[in-house]
Amino acid sequence: MKPISNHMPTAELQALDAAHHMHPFTAGAELGAKGARVITQASGVTLTDSEGNRILDAMAGLWCVNIGYGREELAEAASRQMKQLPYYNTFFQTTHVPAIALAARLAELAPGDLNHVFFAGSGSEANDTNIRLVRHYWAAKGKPEKKVIISRWNAYHGSTMGGASLGGMKGMHAQGGLPIPDIAYIDQPHWYAEGGDMSPEEFGLERARQLEAKIAELGEDKVAAFIAEPVQGAGGVIIPPETYWPEIQRICDAHDILLIADEVICGFGRTGNWFGSQTMNIRPHIMTIAKGLSSGYAPIGGSLVCDEVAEVIAAGEFAHGYTYSGHPVCAAVALENLRIIEEEKIIEHVREVAAPYMAEKWAALADHPLVGEARIVGLMGSLALTPDKGARAKFASEAGTVGLHCRDRCFANNLIMRHVGDRMIIAPPLVIQPADIDILFERAVKSLDETFAKIKAEGLY
Ligand code: PMP
Repeated sequence: MKPISNHMPTAELQALDAAHHMHPFTAGAELGAKGARVITQASGVTLTDSEGNRILDAMAGLWCVNIGYGREELAEAASRQMKQLPYYNTFFQTTHVPAIALAARLAELAPGDLNHVFFAGSGSEANDTNIRLVRHYWAAKGKPEKKVIISRWNAYHGSTMGGASLGGMKGMHAQGGLPIPDIAYIDQPHWYAEGGDMSPEEFGLERARQLEAKIAELGEDKVAAFIAEPVQGAGGVIIPPETYWPEIQRICDAHDILLIADEVICGFGRTGNWFGSQTMNIRPHIMTIAKGLSSGYAPIGGSLVCDEVAEVIAAGEFAHGYTYSGHPVCAAVALENLRIIEEEKIIEHVREVAAPYMAEKWAALADHPLVGEARIVGLMGSLALTPDKGARAKFASEAGTVGLHCRDRCFANNLIMRHVGDRMIIAPPLVIQPADIDILFERAVKSLDETFAKIKAEGLY
Protein backbone atom coordinates (compact mmCIF):
# COMPACT_ATOMS: atom_id res chain seq x y z
CA MET A 1 0.00 0.00 0.00
CA LYS A 2 1.31 3.45 -0.81
CA PRO A 3 1.97 5.74 2.12
CA ILE A 4 -1.02 7.74 3.26
CA SER A 5 -0.22 11.39 3.87
CA ASN A 6 -1.53 14.94 3.76
CA HIS A 7 -0.34 15.08 0.17
CA MET A 8 -2.82 12.51 -1.08
CA PRO A 9 -5.80 13.82 -3.06
CA THR A 10 -8.76 14.46 -0.79
CA ALA A 11 -11.00 12.01 -2.65
CA GLU A 12 -8.55 9.16 -2.06
CA LEU A 13 -8.29 9.97 1.64
CA GLN A 14 -12.08 10.12 1.87
CA ALA A 15 -12.50 6.79 0.12
CA LEU A 16 -10.06 5.06 2.48
CA ASP A 17 -11.70 6.75 5.45
CA ALA A 18 -15.18 5.62 4.43
CA ALA A 19 -13.92 2.09 3.76
CA HIS A 20 -12.10 1.54 7.05
CA HIS A 21 -12.82 4.16 9.64
CA MET A 22 -15.98 3.89 11.74
CA HIS A 23 -16.89 7.41 12.84
CA PRO A 24 -18.58 8.48 16.05
CA PHE A 25 -21.95 10.21 15.64
CA THR A 26 -21.87 10.14 11.84
CA ALA A 27 -24.49 8.75 9.45
CA GLY A 28 -22.74 6.07 7.40
CA ALA A 29 -24.61 6.66 4.14
CA GLU A 30 -23.85 10.37 4.19
CA LEU A 31 -20.20 9.65 4.93
CA GLY A 32 -19.96 7.36 1.92
CA ALA A 33 -21.77 9.78 -0.36
CA LYS A 34 -20.21 13.09 0.67
CA GLY A 35 -16.91 12.03 2.20
CA ALA A 36 -15.56 13.38 5.46
CA ARG A 37 -13.90 16.76 5.72
CA VAL A 38 -10.18 16.07 6.16
CA ILE A 39 -8.51 18.42 8.62
CA THR A 40 -4.78 18.60 8.14
CA GLN A 41 -3.49 21.26 10.53
CA ALA A 42 -4.50 24.05 12.84
CA SER A 43 -3.21 27.14 14.55
CA GLY A 44 -4.88 29.49 17.02
CA VAL A 45 -8.60 29.40 16.20
CA THR A 46 -8.15 28.32 12.58
CA LEU A 47 -8.26 24.87 11.00
CA THR A 48 -6.92 24.02 7.57
CA ASP A 49 -8.47 21.22 5.50
CA SER A 50 -7.01 19.08 2.75
CA GLU A 51 -8.35 21.49 0.12
CA GLY A 52 -6.50 24.39 1.72
CA ASN A 53 -9.62 26.02 3.19
CA ARG A 54 -9.01 28.02 6.33
CA ILE A 55 -11.88 27.46 8.70
CA LEU A 56 -12.71 29.38 11.87
CA ASP A 57 -13.37 26.75 14.52
CA ALA A 58 -16.15 28.25 16.62
CA MET A 59 -16.53 24.90 18.45
CA ALA A 60 -12.92 24.53 19.70
CA GLY A 61 -12.95 20.98 18.31
CA LEU A 62 -15.46 19.33 20.63
CA TRP A 63 -15.54 22.23 23.12
CA CYS A 64 -12.08 21.35 24.26
CA VAL A 65 -9.25 23.31 22.62
CA ASN A 66 -9.48 26.09 25.19
CA ILE A 67 -5.98 27.52 24.65
CA GLY A 68 -6.23 27.26 20.86
CA TYR A 69 -4.31 25.08 18.42
CA GLY A 70 -0.61 24.85 17.79
CA ARG A 71 0.95 25.52 21.19
CA GLU A 72 4.48 24.15 20.95
CA GLU A 73 4.89 24.16 24.74
CA LEU A 74 2.42 21.30 25.05
CA ALA A 75 4.21 19.29 22.38
CA GLU A 76 7.44 19.88 24.25
CA ALA A 77 5.93 18.87 27.59
CA ALA A 78 4.71 15.63 25.99
CA SER A 79 8.05 14.98 24.37
CA ARG A 80 9.99 15.60 27.60
CA GLN A 81 7.69 13.30 29.55
CA MET A 82 7.78 10.57 26.88
CA LYS A 83 11.55 10.54 27.10
CA GLN A 84 11.66 10.58 30.90
CA LEU A 85 8.83 8.16 31.69
CA PRO A 86 6.35 7.41 28.90
CA TYR A 87 4.14 5.24 31.01
CA TYR A 88 3.65 3.92 34.42
CA ASN A 89 0.49 3.15 36.29
CA THR A 90 -0.86 4.43 39.58
CA PHE A 91 -2.29 1.13 40.81
CA PHE A 92 -0.99 -0.94 43.73
CA GLN A 93 0.58 1.80 45.78
CA THR A 94 2.65 3.37 43.04
CA THR A 95 2.73 6.92 41.72
CA HIS A 96 4.74 9.30 39.56
CA VAL A 97 5.52 13.00 39.55
CA PRO A 98 3.16 14.18 36.77
CA ALA A 99 0.15 12.58 38.50
CA ILE A 100 1.17 14.03 41.87
CA ALA A 101 1.76 17.48 40.43
CA LEU A 102 -1.49 17.56 38.47
CA ALA A 103 -3.57 16.30 41.38
CA ALA A 104 -2.05 18.91 43.70
CA ARG A 105 -2.58 21.68 41.12
CA LEU A 106 -6.21 20.70 40.57
CA ALA A 107 -6.82 20.68 44.32
CA GLU A 108 -5.46 24.24 44.39
CA LEU A 109 -7.70 25.39 41.53
CA ALA A 110 -10.90 23.65 42.52
CA PRO A 111 -13.38 25.44 44.76
CA GLY A 112 -14.29 24.37 48.29
CA ASP A 113 -12.75 21.18 49.61
CA LEU A 114 -12.54 19.34 46.29
CA ASN A 115 -9.03 18.32 47.19
CA HIS A 116 -8.78 14.85 45.64
CA VAL A 117 -8.67 13.57 42.08
CA PHE A 118 -9.40 10.19 40.59
CA PHE A 119 -7.99 10.25 37.06
CA ALA A 120 -9.59 8.80 33.94
CA GLY A 121 -8.93 8.97 30.23
CA SER A 122 -12.06 10.93 29.27
CA GLY A 123 -15.23 12.57 30.51
CA SER A 124 -17.23 9.39 29.92
CA GLU A 125 -14.81 7.31 31.94
CA ALA A 126 -14.82 9.88 34.72
CA ASN A 127 -18.62 9.73 34.89
CA ASP A 128 -18.44 5.93 35.00
CA THR A 129 -16.08 6.37 37.93
CA ASN A 130 -18.62 8.68 39.55
CA ILE A 131 -21.39 6.10 39.36
CA ARG A 132 -19.30 3.51 41.15
CA LEU A 133 -17.76 6.08 43.48
CA VAL A 134 -21.00 7.50 44.86
CA ARG A 135 -22.65 4.08 45.19
CA HIS A 136 -19.59 2.69 46.91
CA TYR A 137 -19.43 5.75 49.18
CA TRP A 138 -22.97 5.18 50.45
CA ALA A 139 -22.42 1.44 50.75
CA ALA A 140 -19.27 2.05 52.77
CA LYS A 141 -21.33 4.26 55.07
CA GLY A 142 -23.74 1.39 55.62
CA LYS A 143 -26.37 2.58 53.14
CA PRO A 144 -26.09 0.25 50.15
CA GLU A 145 -29.68 1.05 49.17
CA LYS A 146 -28.72 4.63 48.38
CA LYS A 147 -27.77 4.03 44.79
CA VAL A 148 -30.13 5.84 42.43
CA ILE A 149 -28.57 8.73 40.56
CA ILE A 150 -30.95 11.40 39.34
CA SER A 151 -30.10 13.10 36.08
CA ARG A 152 -32.01 15.12 33.50
CA TRP A 153 -33.57 14.42 30.15
CA ASN A 154 -31.42 15.82 27.36
CA ALA A 155 -28.31 15.90 29.57
CA TYR A 156 -25.05 14.64 28.06
CA HIS A 157 -22.62 12.78 30.27
CA GLY A 158 -20.73 10.61 27.79
CA SER A 159 -21.00 7.60 25.53
CA THR A 160 -19.96 4.63 27.66
CA MET A 161 -22.68 2.43 29.18
CA GLY A 162 -22.56 4.48 32.36
CA GLY A 163 -22.04 7.87 30.77
CA ALA A 164 -24.83 7.44 28.22
CA SER A 165 -27.14 6.12 30.94
CA LEU A 166 -26.47 9.17 33.08
CA GLY A 167 -27.17 11.23 29.99
CA GLY A 168 -30.77 11.82 29.10
CA MET A 169 -30.54 11.44 25.34
CA LYS A 170 -33.33 9.07 24.34
CA GLY A 171 -31.76 8.36 20.95
CA MET A 172 -28.66 7.07 22.72
CA HIS A 173 -30.66 4.97 25.19
CA ALA A 174 -32.36 3.32 22.22
CA GLN A 175 -29.04 1.83 21.07
CA GLY A 176 -27.37 -0.83 23.17
CA GLY A 177 -29.86 -1.56 25.92
CA LEU A 178 -29.64 1.56 28.05
CA PRO A 179 -30.03 2.94 30.61
CA ILE A 180 -28.33 0.77 33.21
CA PRO A 181 -30.45 0.23 36.36
CA ASP A 182 -30.97 2.83 39.06
CA ILE A 183 -30.74 6.02 37.05
CA ALA A 184 -33.75 8.36 37.16
CA TYR A 185 -34.50 11.52 35.21
CA ILE A 186 -36.21 14.84 35.71
CA ASP A 187 -36.98 17.43 33.05
CA GLN A 188 -34.41 19.94 31.86
CA PRO A 189 -34.58 23.70 32.61
CA HIS A 190 -35.04 24.57 28.93
CA TRP A 191 -37.37 27.54 29.15
CA TYR A 192 -37.34 28.46 25.45
CA ALA A 193 -38.55 25.03 24.31
CA GLU A 194 -40.55 23.84 27.29
CA GLY A 195 -41.45 26.87 29.38
CA GLY A 196 -44.90 27.46 27.87
CA ASP A 197 -46.57 30.51 29.39
CA MET A 198 -44.45 30.54 32.54
CA SER A 199 -41.87 33.25 33.11
CA PRO A 200 -38.29 31.93 33.01
CA GLU A 201 -38.09 32.50 36.79
CA GLU A 202 -41.22 30.48 37.56
CA PHE A 203 -40.15 27.79 35.15
CA GLY A 204 -36.66 27.52 36.69
CA LEU A 205 -38.23 26.89 40.09
CA GLU A 206 -40.72 24.40 38.69
CA ARG A 207 -37.97 22.37 37.04
CA ALA A 208 -35.69 22.48 40.10
CA ARG A 209 -38.55 21.33 42.32
CA GLN A 210 -38.94 18.25 40.17
CA LEU A 211 -35.75 17.11 41.90
CA GLU A 212 -37.39 17.35 45.31
CA ALA A 213 -40.46 15.55 44.00
CA LYS A 214 -38.30 12.80 42.50
CA ILE A 215 -36.37 12.35 45.76
CA ALA A 216 -39.71 12.07 47.61
CA GLU A 217 -41.03 9.58 45.06
CA LEU A 218 -37.96 7.34 45.20
CA GLY A 219 -37.29 7.84 48.92
CA GLU A 220 -34.31 9.81 50.18
CA ASP A 221 -32.77 6.57 51.48
CA LYS A 222 -32.60 5.30 47.89
CA VAL A 223 -30.99 8.32 46.23
CA ALA A 224 -27.21 8.59 46.00
CA ALA A 225 -26.69 11.71 43.94
CA PHE A 226 -27.93 14.28 41.46
CA ILE A 227 -25.75 14.96 38.41
CA ALA A 228 -25.98 17.92 36.06
CA GLU A 229 -23.93 20.12 33.77
CA PRO A 230 -23.83 23.69 35.16
CA VAL A 231 -24.85 24.72 31.63
CA GLN A 232 -26.06 21.92 29.34
CA GLY A 233 -23.71 21.75 26.39
CA ALA A 234 -24.43 19.01 23.88
CA GLY A 235 -28.14 19.35 24.65
CA GLY A 236 -28.01 22.74 22.93
CA VAL A 237 -26.21 25.21 25.24
CA ILE A 238 -29.16 25.59 27.54
CA ILE A 239 -28.51 28.28 30.11
CA PRO A 240 -30.91 27.68 33.00
CA PRO A 241 -33.11 30.47 34.38
CA GLU A 242 -31.50 32.30 37.30
CA THR A 243 -33.84 30.69 39.81
CA TYR A 244 -32.80 27.15 38.88
CA TRP A 245 -29.44 26.48 40.49
CA PRO A 246 -30.10 28.17 43.86
CA GLU A 247 -33.18 25.98 44.24
CA ILE A 248 -31.27 22.83 43.21
CA GLN A 249 -28.57 23.70 45.75
CA ARG A 250 -31.22 24.22 48.46
CA ILE A 251 -32.76 20.82 47.66
CA CYS A 252 -29.40 19.04 47.68
CA ASP A 253 -28.57 20.68 51.03
CA ALA A 254 -31.95 19.74 52.50
CA HIS A 255 -31.66 16.09 51.51
CA ASP A 256 -28.84 13.70 52.14
CA ILE A 257 -27.64 13.35 48.54
CA LEU A 258 -24.45 14.19 46.71
CA LEU A 259 -24.28 16.84 44.01
CA ILE A 260 -22.13 16.00 40.98
CA ALA A 261 -21.36 18.88 38.62
CA ASP A 262 -20.31 17.64 35.21
CA GLU A 263 -17.74 20.29 34.30
CA VAL A 264 -16.43 18.51 31.21
CA ILE A 265 -17.45 21.46 29.02
CA CYS A 266 -17.87 24.24 31.60
CA GLY A 267 -14.54 23.63 33.34
CA PHE A 268 -11.28 25.46 32.68
CA GLY A 269 -12.60 28.86 31.74
CA ARG A 270 -15.49 28.25 29.37
CA THR A 271 -17.99 30.29 31.41
CA GLY A 272 -15.52 32.98 32.49
CA ASN A 273 -14.42 31.30 35.72
CA TRP A 274 -12.24 28.26 36.29
CA PHE A 275 -15.40 26.20 36.77
CA GLY A 276 -19.04 26.54 35.76
CA SER A 277 -19.96 25.75 39.38
CA GLN A 278 -18.42 29.11 40.33
CA THR A 279 -20.39 30.92 37.63
CA MET A 280 -23.60 29.21 38.77
CA ASN A 281 -22.67 29.54 42.45
CA ILE A 282 -23.05 25.90 43.39
CA ARG A 283 -21.10 23.68 45.76
CA PRO A 284 -20.74 20.20 44.26
CA HIS A 285 -19.30 17.23 46.17
CA ILE A 286 -17.80 15.89 42.95
CA MET A 287 -16.87 17.53 39.66
CA THR A 288 -16.32 15.65 36.39
CA ILE A 289 -13.48 17.15 34.37
CA ALA A 290 -11.92 16.42 30.96
CA LYS A 291 -11.66 18.35 27.66
CA GLY A 292 -10.23 21.77 28.68
CA LEU A 293 -8.06 20.06 31.32
CA SER A 294 -5.55 19.40 28.54
CA SER A 295 -7.22 21.64 25.92
CA GLY A 296 -7.74 18.40 24.03
CA TYR A 297 -4.02 17.95 23.35
CA ALA A 298 -4.01 14.64 25.26
CA PRO A 299 -6.86 12.42 26.44
CA ILE A 300 -7.35 12.92 30.15
CA GLY A 301 -10.28 13.36 32.52
CA GLY A 302 -11.07 12.83 36.13
CA SER A 303 -13.32 13.22 39.12
CA LEU A 304 -12.54 15.97 41.60
CA VAL A 305 -13.79 14.74 44.95
CA CYS A 306 -14.49 16.51 48.25
CA ASP A 307 -12.74 15.62 51.52
CA GLU A 308 -15.64 13.74 53.08
CA VAL A 309 -16.26 11.44 50.12
CA ALA A 310 -12.54 10.88 49.53
CA GLU A 311 -11.97 9.98 53.19
CA VAL A 312 -14.73 7.37 53.18
CA ILE A 313 -13.40 5.88 49.95
CA ALA A 314 -9.81 5.91 51.22
CA ALA A 315 -10.80 3.96 54.34
CA GLY A 316 -11.02 0.85 52.16
CA GLU A 317 -9.90 -0.12 48.68
CA PHE A 318 -11.85 1.21 45.69
CA ALA A 319 -11.72 -1.67 43.20
CA HIS A 320 -11.68 0.62 40.20
CA GLY A 321 -9.15 2.18 37.84
CA TYR A 322 -8.03 2.49 34.26
CA THR A 323 -4.69 1.54 32.72
CA TYR A 324 -4.38 5.20 31.75
CA SER A 325 -5.57 6.77 35.03
CA GLY A 326 -3.14 9.65 35.53
CA HIS A 327 -1.15 8.77 32.41
CA PRO A 328 2.17 10.61 32.84
CA VAL A 329 2.29 12.12 29.35
CA CYS A 330 -1.32 13.31 29.52
CA ALA A 331 -0.78 14.65 33.03
CA ALA A 332 2.34 16.55 31.92
CA VAL A 333 0.42 18.05 28.99
CA ALA A 334 -2.49 19.01 31.27
CA LEU A 335 -0.11 20.70 33.72
CA GLU A 336 1.46 22.73 30.94
CA ASN A 337 -2.00 23.67 29.69
CA LEU A 338 -3.03 24.84 33.17
CA ARG A 339 0.17 26.86 33.42
CA ILE A 340 -0.64 28.62 30.14
CA ILE A 341 -4.25 29.31 31.16
CA GLU A 342 -3.06 30.89 34.38
CA GLU A 343 0.06 32.74 33.24
CA GLU A 344 -1.51 34.11 30.09
CA LYS A 345 -4.59 35.12 32.05
CA ILE A 346 -6.84 33.36 29.58
CA ILE A 347 -9.80 33.27 31.94
CA GLU A 348 -9.48 37.01 32.56
CA HIS A 349 -9.37 37.41 28.78
CA VAL A 350 -12.67 35.51 28.50
CA ARG A 351 -14.29 37.51 31.29
CA GLU A 352 -13.03 40.96 30.40
CA VAL A 353 -12.46 40.92 26.65
CA ALA A 354 -13.82 38.05 24.57
CA ALA A 355 -17.10 37.28 26.33
CA PRO A 356 -18.33 40.88 26.63
CA TYR A 357 -17.43 41.56 22.98
CA MET A 358 -19.09 38.36 21.88
CA ALA A 359 -22.17 38.88 24.07
CA GLU A 360 -22.97 42.22 22.49
CA LYS A 361 -22.77 40.83 18.97
CA TRP A 362 -24.52 37.60 19.88
CA ALA A 363 -27.48 39.47 21.39
CA ALA A 364 -27.82 41.46 18.15
CA LEU A 365 -28.35 38.20 16.23
CA ALA A 366 -31.76 38.00 17.90
CA ASP A 367 -32.82 40.67 15.38
CA HIS A 368 -32.29 38.24 12.52
CA PRO A 369 -35.66 37.03 11.17
CA LEU A 370 -34.72 33.37 11.78
CA VAL A 371 -33.49 33.75 15.36
CA GLY A 372 -35.95 33.39 18.22
CA GLU A 373 -33.44 33.50 21.06
CA ALA A 374 -29.72 34.26 21.32
CA ARG A 375 -28.17 33.22 24.64
CA ILE A 376 -24.55 33.14 25.73
CA VAL A 377 -22.57 32.68 28.93
CA GLY A 378 -18.82 33.18 28.81
CA LEU A 379 -17.88 31.62 25.51
CA MET A 380 -20.69 29.13 25.07
CA GLY A 381 -23.71 30.33 23.16
CA SER A 382 -26.81 29.18 21.31
CA LEU A 383 -29.30 30.51 18.79
CA ALA A 384 -32.80 29.10 18.50
CA LEU A 385 -33.97 29.12 14.89
CA THR A 386 -37.70 29.61 14.51
CA PRO A 387 -40.37 30.37 11.92
CA ASP A 388 -42.20 32.58 14.43
CA LYS A 389 -40.25 34.51 17.06
CA GLY A 390 -43.23 35.65 19.12
CA ALA A 391 -44.60 32.14 19.55
CA ARG A 392 -41.19 30.46 20.05
CA ALA A 393 -42.52 28.14 17.34
CA LYS A 394 -40.89 25.05 15.90
CA PHE A 395 -40.53 24.48 12.16
CA ALA A 396 -43.05 22.21 10.49
CA SER A 397 -40.14 20.22 9.01
CA GLU A 398 -38.57 17.40 10.99
CA ALA A 399 -36.59 18.82 13.94
CA GLY A 400 -33.04 19.55 12.89
CA THR A 401 -33.70 20.03 9.17
CA VAL A 402 -33.21 23.79 9.29
CA GLY A 403 -30.37 23.50 11.79
CA LEU A 404 -28.57 21.11 9.46
CA HIS A 405 -29.04 23.49 6.53
CA CYS A 406 -27.54 26.24 8.61
CA ARG A 407 -24.60 24.10 9.68
CA ASP A 408 -23.94 23.23 6.04
CA ARG A 409 -24.02 26.91 5.11
CA CYS A 410 -21.56 27.62 7.95
CA PHE A 411 -19.22 24.90 6.66
CA ALA A 412 -19.49 26.35 3.16
CA ASN A 413 -18.55 29.75 4.61
CA ASN A 414 -15.55 28.36 6.50
CA LEU A 415 -17.12 28.53 9.93
CA ILE A 416 -17.61 25.60 12.27
CA MET A 417 -20.83 25.97 14.20
CA ARG A 418 -22.73 22.94 15.39
CA HIS A 419 -26.47 22.33 15.30
CA VAL A 420 -28.53 20.56 17.93
CA GLY A 421 -31.92 20.15 16.35
CA ASP A 422 -32.76 23.64 15.17
CA ARG A 423 -30.41 25.35 17.63
CA MET A 424 -27.03 26.60 16.49
CA ILE A 425 -24.25 26.51 19.06
CA ILE A 426 -20.76 27.87 19.50
CA ALA A 427 -17.93 27.37 21.96
CA PRO A 428 -14.78 28.81 20.37
CA PRO A 429 -11.26 28.56 21.77
CA LEU A 430 -10.99 30.84 24.80
CA VAL A 431 -8.09 32.72 23.22
CA ILE A 432 -10.32 34.11 20.48
CA GLN A 433 -9.61 37.78 19.81
CA PRO A 434 -12.06 40.55 18.83
CA ALA A 435 -10.82 40.49 15.22
CA ASP A 436 -11.62 36.75 14.99
CA ILE A 437 -14.99 37.42 16.59
CA ASP A 438 -15.72 39.93 13.83
CA ILE A 439 -14.97 37.26 11.24
CA LEU A 440 -17.07 34.73 13.14
CA PHE A 441 -20.07 37.08 13.02
CA GLU A 442 -19.63 38.04 9.40
CA ARG A 443 -19.71 34.34 8.47
CA ALA A 444 -22.51 33.51 10.89
CA VAL A 445 -24.77 36.27 9.54
CA LYS A 446 -24.01 35.27 5.95
CA SER A 447 -24.85 31.65 6.81
CA LEU A 448 -28.09 32.64 8.55
CA ASP A 449 -29.08 34.79 5.56
CA GLU A 450 -28.37 31.95 3.15
CA THR A 451 -30.29 29.50 5.34
CA PHE A 452 -33.21 31.91 5.43
CA ALA A 453 -33.19 32.24 1.64
CA LYS A 454 -32.93 28.49 1.17
CA ILE A 455 -35.74 27.52 3.49
CA LYS A 456 -38.00 30.17 2.00
CA ALA A 457 -37.22 28.80 -1.47
CA GLU A 458 -37.98 25.27 -0.24
CA GLY A 459 -41.20 26.29 1.44
CA LEU A 460 -39.92 25.41 4.92
CA TYR A 461 -40.58 28.89 6.31
N1 PMP B 1 -19.83 15.21 30.04
C1 PMP B 1 -20.12 16.28 29.29
C2 PMP B 1 -20.85 17.43 29.91
C3 PMP B 1 -19.70 16.34 27.96
O1 PMP B 1 -20.00 17.41 27.22
C4 PMP B 1 -18.97 15.26 27.44
C5 PMP B 1 -18.45 15.27 26.02
N2 PMP B 1 -19.05 16.12 25.14
C6 PMP B 1 -18.73 14.16 28.26
C7 PMP B 1 -19.16 14.18 29.56
C8 PMP B 1 -18.00 12.96 27.75
O2 PMP B 1 -16.67 13.24 27.59
P1 PMP B 1 -15.76 12.33 26.62
O3 PMP B 1 -16.27 12.55 25.24
O4 PMP B 1 -14.39 12.86 26.89
O5 PMP B 1 -15.92 10.93 27.07
